[in-house]
This record gives sequence, C-alpha cells and structure tokens, in this order.
Amino acid sequence: MSTIEQCDELARLEAGERLTSQEWLTLIQSVPGETFRALADRMRMRLHPDGIVCYVIDRNVNYTNVCTAVCTFCAFYRKPGHEEGYVLGHDEIFARVEEMLELGGSGVLMQGGLHPDLPLEWYETLLTELKRRYGIHLHCFSPPEIHAFSRLYGMSVREVLVRLKNAGLDSIPGGGAEILVEPFRRRRATKCTGPEWLQVMEQAHGLGLPTTATMMFGMGETEEIRLEHLRLLRDLQDRTGGFISFIPWTFQPDNTALGKAYPDRVSLDEYLKWLAISRLYLDNVPNIQVSWLTQGLDGARLGLRSGANDVGSIMIEENVISAAGAKHQSGEEGLRQAIIDAGFHPCKRNAAYGRLEQLLDVTSAADPVSVGA
Ligand code: SF4
Repeated sequence: MSTIEQCDELARLEAGERLTSQEWLTLIQSVPGETFRALADRMRMRLHPDGIVCYVIDRNVNYTNVCTAVCTFCAFYRKPGHEEGYVLGHDEIFARVEEMLELGGSGVLMQGGLHPDLPLEWYETLLTELKRRYGIHLHCFSPPEIHAFSRLYGMSVREVLVRLKNAGLDSIPGGGAEILVEPFRRRRATKCTGPEWLQVMEQAHGLGLPTTATMMFGMGETEEIRLEHLRLLRDLQDRTGGFISFIPWTFQPDNTALGKAYPDRVSLDEYLKWLAISRLYLDNVPNIQVSWLTQGLDGARLGLRSGANDVGSIMIEENVISAAGAKHQSGEEGLRQAIIDAGFHPCKRNAAYGRLEQLLDVTSAADPVSVGA
C-alpha cells in the first residue's frame, strides 16, 4: 500500500474531497513533496486522459515600462520621467506582431506598466487595429492595469472592460496577482490590492472574458499565505468558472529591491511541490501551467509529471521576468521535445486554450511513469 492510501487526508484528496486549511497545513508540513507530485500526476491524468500537453506561440508585448506603482519585486518598471522609460508606438507593435505571425503565432500577450496619462483611446485604437489587420487573439492587460485605467479615466472597472472588449479584447492575463493575501501584499507592492485584483477578474468573467490566474512565490510568505492565495482563487472560480488556467512561478530576485532581503531562489523541489499542491487544491481550474521560463526545460519536464498539463508560451519576447534574472530560453522545437520527453503529445493552442492542431492516433494516456511516493 502506498503513502497515499495509508494517509486519510491524501486518500480523501484522491477521492475528490476538499480539505480544510488546517488539514492542508498539516499535510504540507508532514508529507514529502514527492507524494504531492505523485498524487497531482494522477489527478492530471484523470482530468486530461488524452496525454496531450499544449503550448502557445504568441508574443509578449510590453507596450510601456513607465509605471506609477512601486513593486519591490519588479526590475522592469521605470518611474515617469526616467530617461529609460519608453512607450512603444502602434507601428512598432504591428511590426512585432508581424514577426510573431511569421513564426506561426496566434496572438499577443500585451501588458505594461501603469502609465500615468495614456488615454483610453490609445488602447482601444491599438486593439481595434490589431484585430482588423491580423485577426489574432488579444490576451491583454492584467488586473492592475485594468484597475489603474478605471482610476485614471474615472470609470468603473466594468465600463473599462466593456470598452476594451468592444475594441477586440479576447481574454485577460492573470499577471499582477503575485500573492493576493493582505496585508502581506501591501508590504510588497503599491498596485491594486488583492480584493481589487479579484474584483477585476470577477467582472471580466461576468462579461464572458476568460482569464488565467497566477501566483509568484518565494517573497518571504508563509505556507499559510500561499494556501490562502489558492483559496481566494478557488472561491472566485466556484462563483464564476472563468479561470482557464493557473500558472505558478517563483520570485526572481536579480535587480529588485526585494532581492536584497530575499536573494535566494525557491528550489526546484519546492517549486514542484507547490505546482502539485496547486493542481490538487484548484480542483475547479482545468489547466495548470508549468513555468519553464523560471524553472528551465528540465524543470518543465518534471512539472509535467507533477500536475501540470501545459507549458505556456515559447516567449518570443519576454522582458519582465527576464529583467529579474530568469534567463532560460527555448524555441518551439525545444518545448515540443520537452513535452515528448515527459511522455506526452505536444499540441499547439491559442491563448484561450483552443487547440490548433488535429492530433491523430492520440487515444491513450501517456506512459504512467510515477514520480515517486
Ligand atoms: S510589477 Fe507592474 S505594476 Fe509593479 S512596478 Fe512592475 S510594472 Fe509597475
């Protein structure tokens, strides 16, 4: 009998039952990461029995690095008036999109700093033109940006979302969540609060805009705080069902103010344990994405046997996490090979998790190699 069958809480998790926060904390402190990873691998196989792992070819476009917020974990932003501040022109963005299309991509992930005075029409015109010219998927503006737009233009979050959706917005990235739990979050960042982040997502889901959700950990938070972050997301998902994916990654300390206090990266073992916990805890979120950008392709392969069923984007361009020290790189072939090496079938998708390849002969689950326990 394995550890999973011997432990009442693990057996209940396996049976689809939800545990209390106290039961989770006790488990996290007493059960090795390998056990969580094995259990999450089994859950992933049940949820995605076709053995397919998806990835997306899109382009990160960081339209500006000018930002009125101060986030101690961020190495990307420049304060208004800083000589290194930039705003990309629409034509520059179009040129980047055309490069992306040449590589077989399907959309853009567009995010930026909280710019103090770009008008809403600047964003609307950009979305409208991107849709009209290229017909691509527009996965744009994380909740801190939407919230800042609402403040800047004196409009409700809902009004901002309706305007952007009418201009062509298809879905919203779950960036800017980091850790949603207050007051911990307030001590790390001056952008929107945890409740405000959740409110933007609830409004978006209500308008039929799917979104992803994220967690960035390794900033000195306790295990209890990480669990609470997951609970906040699961509760919202119970109400809306609008999160299509959850993407955890680790704080990258280089060139950040917070990195002086927390210079050490979360280990791969710790990352994989929390990836697995995320799969098990977020039983209502269909997809879990492993962060190869912060964990490398070897980490991604292990992540695919620890609950993840997606490897995200090939990241034609990434500026925000890279600025803080994540230097892993991969093209499409590298990602596809990592998926195959982990025992799965690669499949290209768009940002809304729609599959873009017809896969033949995919009828059985992947080789059920166990990761331990
Ligand atoms: S994380 Fe985003 S909101 Fe915070 S400082 Fe960086 S660019 Fe600005």
